[in-house]
Amino acid sequence: MLQQTLVIVKPDGLKKSLTGNILTRLSETKLRIIGAKIVHVSRELAVQHYIHLKDKPFFEDVIKYITGQLHGDEYRRVMALVYQGEGAIDKVRKLAGETNPEVAESTTIRGQYGRLTTNGLFENVLHCSSSEADALREIKLWFEPNEIVEDIYPSENIEVKVKKPVWK
Ligand code: ADP
Repeated sequence: MLQQTLVIVKPDGLKKSLTGNILTRLSETKLRIIGAKIVHVSRELAVQHYIHLKDKPFFEDVIKYITGQLHGDEYRRVMALVYQGEGAIDKVRKLAGETNPEVAESTTIRGQYGRLTTNGLFENVLHCSSSEADALREIKLWFEPNEIVEDIYPSENIEVKVKKPVWK
């Protein structure tokens, strides 16, 4: 089934200069990138993204992690990508490996590059959607329709008056 999935190279992935390695590993899947950007993650976006974890004891640590408060100001950012292709969700999850990098097989991205911090947080270098419902929710949360080069979900044109920065 043709699917889309959200991949996020987390701040530790950027700090460890792993973007290239991660994209190379993901290219093994033959999936296609249909959206990509570098993002400063707001608390609001982080909370929405991890809303399913809000009652977990490690919730605040995960928010700090994805908003880039654990890896220095230079790495207060993530790379967000949308991949598309047959069975995209499972293909990427398999390559990424288990959530806990200590448990993840050593050949997976998380097994190879992740670590368990002394606070017990899983720093696992990337996020990837875990189901079709999650992928849909997450892609709509992270990307606007015109940031993706394919028409993956219905969208509409509305008129909005916004103040935004433009090049001088
Ligand atoms: P995944 O990222 O594999 O979809 P979750 O959505 O359950 O997994 O968790 C989100 C993130 O929270 C994980 O990628 C990891 O960084 C962190 N995390 C999850 N479970 C734990 C845990 N038990 N202890 C510490 N950190 C965790």
